[in-house]
Amino acid sequence: MKLNEFNNAFQTEQQCLAYIANLKENKCIRCFNFNLNTSDLKRMRCLKCNQTFSILTGTIFSRSQTSLTSCFYLIFRWINTKHGIPSTDIAKELGVTLKTAWRMTNKIRTRIAKQKPQFIVEGTVQIDEMYLSHMGFKKQGRSLVNKTLIVGIYQKTTNNLIVKVLKNAKSKNLLQFAKNHISSKCLVYTDYWKGYCDFKSVFTKHETVNHQDGYV
Ligand SMILES: [Zn+2]
Repeated sequence: MKLNEFNNAFQTEQQCLAYIANLKENKCIRCFNFNLNTSDLKRMRCLKCNQTFSILTGTIFSRSQTSLTSCFYLIFRWINTKHGIPSTDIAKELGVTLKTAWRMTNKIRTRIAKQKPQFIVEGTVQIDEMYLSHMGFKKQGRSLVNKTLIVGIYQKTTNNLIVKVLKNAKSKNLLQFAKNHISSKCLVYTDYWKGYCDFKSVFTKHETVNHQDGYV
C-alpha cells in the first residue's frame, strides 16, 4: 500500500474502526452472541444480554489515549521502513512533540509485544522484519543497537497483518513466530536473509525474492 492509498483509506477514526471491525469476529464479550447493534462501533450493544462494549476491546488499541489514525500511521510507517524510523520523524509527521512521539511508539510497541497469537493464516503470505529506532538514531543493517525488531506476516488477499516484537532476527525466532501463525501449506515469500534459510524445513512452498524486485 502506498502513502496516498493509506491516507485515503485511513483518514478518519471511523475508517480505522471499520477496518478493525472487518478483521474481528464480532461477538458479545459476555455471552458470545453474534447479534449486535453495531451502529456505534465504540459502543456496540449485544441484542441478547444488553452488554455494551467497544470494537477495540481485546485489541492493542483498547484504552489507548492516542487516536487510531495516529496509531495506524505509526504501524504503516513501520511496515514500510526497513531500517527504522526515528521518533523525530514521527513527531514531525504527526505534528506532535518528540516526547509524545516517543511515548506513542513505545506504547504501541509494548502492546504489539504482548499480543497473543490469534489465528493461523492460509494461502500466500510474506514475512519480513522492520526496525524501529528509539532515540532518533537511524542505523542501517540488522544491528539492534537502539532499535526494536518488529516482524510482520502479511496476507495480501485478506489484507491481514500479524506483527510481533522479536529479540533478534535469528532463524530460530523467525521460524517459531512463522510456525505460530502460518499454515505449513502456505506459499511463503521472504527475502534472502539467512534467518529464513530453515523455512524450507517447515514450509515446502518457500520462495525468496529481492526487495528491489518487490513482493507479491
Ligand atoms: Zn451478550
